[in-house]
Amino acid sequence: MIVPFTRILRRCAVKGLGVLPIFCRKDMKQSQYFIPTLREVPSDAEIRSHQFLLRAGFIRQVAAGVYTYLPLAKRVLNKVEGIVREELEAIGSNELLMPALQPKELWDQTGRWDVYGGELVRLKDRHNRDFALGPTHEEVITEVVKDYLNSYKKLPLNVFQIQTKFRDEARPRFGLMRGREFIMKDAYTFHATEESLDEAYHNFVKAYTNIFTRCGLHFRMVEADSGQIGGSQSAEFMALAEVGEDTIVYSTTGNFAANSEVVDLPVGAPSPDGNGEIAHAKGIEVGHVFKLGTKYSEAMNANFLDENQKKQSLIMGCYGIGISRVLMAALEQNNDDNGMIWPKAIAPFDVHVVAVDMKKADQAEAAEKLYADLKMAGYSVLFDDRKERPGVKFSDADLIGLPIRITVGRGVSEGTVELKVRSTGETLDVNLSEIAQVVKDKYSEAK
Ligand code: ATP
Ligand code: MG
Repeated sequence: MIVPFTRILRRCAVKGLGVLPIFCRKDMKQSQYFIPTLREVPSDAEIRSHQFLLRAGFIRQVAAGVYTYLPLAKRVLNKVEGIVREELEAIGSNELLMPALQPKELWDQTGRWDVYGGELVRLKDRHNRDFALGPTHEEVITEVVKDYLNSYKKLPLNVFQIQTKFRDEARPRFGLMRGREFIMKDAYTFHATEESLDEAYHNFVKAYTNIFTRCGLHFRMVEADSGQIGGSQSAEFMALAEVGEDTIVYSTTGNFAANSEVVDLPVGAPSPDGNGEIAHAKGIEVGHVFKLGTKYSEAMNANFLDENQKKQSLIMGCYGIGISRVLMAALEQNNDDNGMIWPKAIAPFDVHVVAVDMKKADQAEAAEKLYADLKMAGYSVLFDDRKERPGVKFSDADLIGLPIRITVGRGVSEGTVELKVRSTGETLDVNLSEIAQVVKDKYSEAK
């Protein structure tokens, strides 16, 4: 994560940006940063991650299941999206962006306008034409690619987008966990053969495993119900958490794991793979991979000519990740009584520099210098330069939960600051002359 300084300089010089690395210029002083913390948590926030997101000024509700992502949450989303982009580009997926607004005619082609039900947000334009706000994009993407994909020579094709989805959920709840407007990564693949689809499916499983591991999630891949959408094989990625809405049925010693929607096996039953017995756990579905087959291409007449010039339906796969739900799940797994504990890969900032008393010239100066030096070294830094009581600053810092906190207080008269590792609570006094090295060590140790 720490990009060598020389490379940054070179990059900036190439871009004609002068020699100051771009992120060093970012000014993230808390006095100027929009973090509307709350002292009182709204009573409808039932779970910890939701309570902390509201209290720490990460999100604000606009309507049931509809939220503003405030600057800190936006930074986490950017990180998650960055990881998703890297891993999907590594398997050859092309990023594009489709519209949220989708005409009814597209949904009529697959019959989903009539069967999707109340979750589909429907609206009319000024000419009284029907539209939906996309809950998913199988119809749009198939329409977009079908003329181009007229020959086996152009297959396979792998595309993804990161986009806002709309679903008028019957029970929006738990903040970002089940929103009516939420951010999803959805990917679609198109193939000439089942083997090619198998390969893509396998690549997505690998990419998802990398993504959720990098996001610091404790998760499990489970067999899922391919039920309503049709298709032959599907798996879900479940972040393990007590508050999860899904039940995972798994073998204590074997590899078997499935959503309880697929199999109904009681705790203690022998596992179907003949290995160990069944246990149950709760999970939050953060991702889903799905072999769609030809359901959409047949309905929408999306065909290609195979090697024998024979017309065939495109074979499809689709793959989703709930980006905003990942943020929530990561937080649900990483917190304590004092607040959030962000895994470093998705933390809004790497380091929190807290100046205890900005009115004291030596503290203010040392804090400013540390802030500048750490940015120069490649960290993203939030600098608490507010004129607040120390108690308020410390509790806000714990609440926001950045991986490393450095407190610049009275110790600076002797040349020391205090470093705290949020995840372990480890606290140590560090000489300012050694702080760069200690931050480096502690940051690399942090989860
Ligand atoms: P669920 O069973 O939780 O309703 P789903 O099976 O309908 O989800 P998919 O259509 O597979 O969801 O969507 C892909 C991903 O988008 C899901 O794995 C999940 O992470 C996320 N997601 C789905 N619905 C929501 C929602 N209402 N709010 C936030 N994220 C969601
Ligand atoms: Mg699903």
